[in-house]
Amino acid sequence: MSLEQRLSGLTETLYKKNIKDCSDSQLYNCVLQLTKEEMAKKPAISGSKKVYYISMEFLIGKLLSNNLINLKLYDEMEAALAKYGRKLSDIEEAEPEPSLGNGGLGRLAACFLDSIATLGLPGDGIGLNYHYGLFKQVFRDRLQQAEKNDWIEENSWLNKTDTTFTVSFGSRKVTSILYDIDVVGYENGCNKLHLFDVDTVDGSLVKEGIDFDKEAIEKNLTLFLYPDDSDEAGNLLRIYQEYFMVSNGAQLIVKELKEKGCDLHRMDEHVAIQINDTHPTLVIPELIRILTWEEGFTIEDAVQTVSRTCAYTNHTILAEALEKWPLEYIERVVPQLVPIIKELSARVAKKYEDPRVQIIDSGKKVHMAHIDIHYGYSVNGVAAIHTDILKESELNHFYKIYPEKFNNKTNGITFRRWLLSCNRELAEFLTETIGDGFKKDAGELEKLLAKKDDMAVLDAIDRIKQQKKAALASWLKEKEGIDVDGNSVFDIQVKRLHEYKRQQMNALYIIHKYLEIKAGKKPLRPMTFIFGAKAAPAYVIAQDIIHLILVLSEIVNKDPEVSPYMKVVMVENYNVSYAEKLIPACDISEQISLASKEASGTGNMKFMLNGAVTLGTSDGANVEIHELVGDDNIYIFGEKSDTVIAHYAKADYVSKDYYEKSPLIREAVDFIIGPKAMAAGHRENLERLHKELLNKDWFMTLLDLEDYVKVKDQAFADYEDRTAWKKKMLVNIAKAGFFSSDRTIAEYNRDIWKL
Ligand SMILES: *Cc1c(COP(=O)(O)O)cnc(C)c1O
Repeated sequence: MSLEQRLSGLTETLYKKNIKDCSDSQLYNCVLQLTKEEMAKKPAISGSKKVYYISMEFLIGKLLSNNLINLKLYDEMEAALAKYGRKLSDIEEAEPEPSLGNGGLGRLAACFLDSIATLGLPGDGIGLNYHYGLFKQVFRDRLQQAEKNDWIEENSWLNKTDTTFTVSFGSRKVTSILYDIDVVGYENGCNKLHLFDVDTVDGSLVKEGIDFDKEAIEKNLTLFLYPDDSDEAGNLLRIYQEYFMVSNGAQLIVKELKEKGCDLHRMDEHVAIQINDTHPTLVIPELIRILTWEEGFTIEDAVQTVSRTCAYTNHTILAEALEKWPLEYIERVVPQLVPIIKELSARVAKKYEDPRVQIIDSGKKVHMAHIDIHYGYSVNGVAAIHTDILKESELNHFYKIYPEKFNNKTNGITFRRWLLSCNRELAEFLTETIGDGFKKDAGELEKLLAKKDDMAVLDAIDRIKQQKKAALASWLKEKEGIDVDGNSVFDIQVKRLHEYKRQQMNALYIIHKYLEIKAGKKPLRPMTFIFGAKAAPAYVIAQDIIHLILVLSEIVNKDPEVSPYMKVVMVENYNVSYAEKLIPACDISEQISLASKEASGTGNMKFMLNGAVTLGTSDGANVEIHELVGDDNIYIFGEKSDTVIAHYAKADYVSKDYYEKSPLIREAVDFIIGPKAMAAGHRENLERLHKELLNKDWFMTLLDLEDYVKVKDQAFADYEDRTAWKKKMLVNIAKAGFFSSDRTIAEYNRDIWKL
């Protein structure tokens, strides 16, 4: 039976309706069911060794379009629906976006699962099935409000399994239940994303916004991703979640090993466990506990076996983001792990005196990354510069002990989602121009370089960009109620809100432009500044930065002297689905973190692949983008990482000095507490932000502001040389192949997993 016949049969059975009469969400349910049936027919990817990718987050995004593409059924499904006057793209809108991740780290995990399956490697994800996930962002009164994100519907990609385990928190026992999501590779078989949950979760615990009783573990364990951890109960809950995830993961791994008849002493020949950031670190002591308590291993044997199996990925050098738990908290949540952690710590203390490499420090805090580094066989950074900083400064004392463990794996993105699915127009044009080899071998995008002087090709790429900008403009009109000019330059900064990412610097540029226009200096072409970002609910200054941007959009968009020349938009609830609409429409990609602070970034790669030109610092993967595209096809500004690291070492950065020296900086910064801003916003938020910039500015906004203004102005000016700009777009697309997560995963496999 054809897809069309099956779909038509399904709508009749389920809804007694013809395809043309179903609602979008009814059709979505039918298409979902058919797609799941097709996925179930795909063989499970198998082999003698398998990787388990353990991660607190999997920011998978909507799955319908991607799964149809990977099954090679997209066109057929689209055509079947079209016969009845229905559009697959409308049906896709009816899918709720899974709320299982936060930002780049979770998105990376999702891209990796796609690539692992696409390369035909046996590899499953292990995580948690959060019912309300990361909060949903709404703006009220120009402030971010957090609401629960109730994303799980009756019909979904989740498949309930009959696998359950018992997880002990001391004497308190919780029964887990496993849900699986199939992960189908592009023209390949299936792996799984295993998401653990508890049956007793109770959504009615959530009262206002995202507040709930943090102590009712049986009811709240899998409610939220990253519950507020500004108090003790919140901290304990995170440890509960982490242990729940890894205990289930460890039990699943041991069970699967036994089912395959493997000798647990040779576990490392059958399994690699990739620990995504420090959240899953407790899998190391938990596996050691299982092997010694339940499988009769000596402690020495268990430690050696586990150390040959686990590998760790570091995602940050921000000290505050490296987890350190008071031993006392771990004692309260999982007392059974404490003797093991103490043993692991004692073994380190016996060998090394350096206090910087200890697992339990003198303040009785447990350094999670230190467990990973001592008791894992690989430590990788996520971009060349990041790995260098780990080796040379942040983790230098570990690098000296274990030089052989350190390696770099520059991040990547799946081209199925970030090109084939989100920019079908560009993908089709590329197929016509250079053939479809790039779909399996991203390096083939370089064939496009031969067309660099072909005006027809340059114009076509630009036409697609215009089309995507027009589509975004109508989306913004519908969703945000804002008119933006499709002929303006689209300058986009979308990513989590954090001071190190420096959305505040972009806001200061906007203030500067606003003041210039008010003074009569009009830009050559209108400019549209787009932001999207969620801020952690307990992160006060981040909330203030969101407030400032919303205040600026109010002031700028409503000022009749200015709004014909510029618009400011902050989209609500930025997520993967929004990213898929924004990124193909971007002209200038803002990647402006303080050098040394962004481990890699992956947003930068998505933008480049879609023909945006990067405006960025020499940070993270921007450095590698710069090397690939050359000086003419990227805008780099700001101090380099060694200068920044020296400022921190000497503690000699004083933001006020920059403020006092520069009228441009002074005017922009003081605008924050000027009469216009005060009239549109809240005194408390704006004054606090102003004070922070003047007296602290820990991420050195003012250090780079003048250079940023200069280079950004240059980028806008260069946009007017349309042919030259189209060439920049082409080169960026052509050189993006390196950032395919297929390349990244092939490297993980070659150097770390050896599947
Ligand atoms: C890619 C992506 C990110 C990561 O963006 P960076 O700019 O690398 O921080 C965050 N959120 C979403 C929804 C993404 O798709």
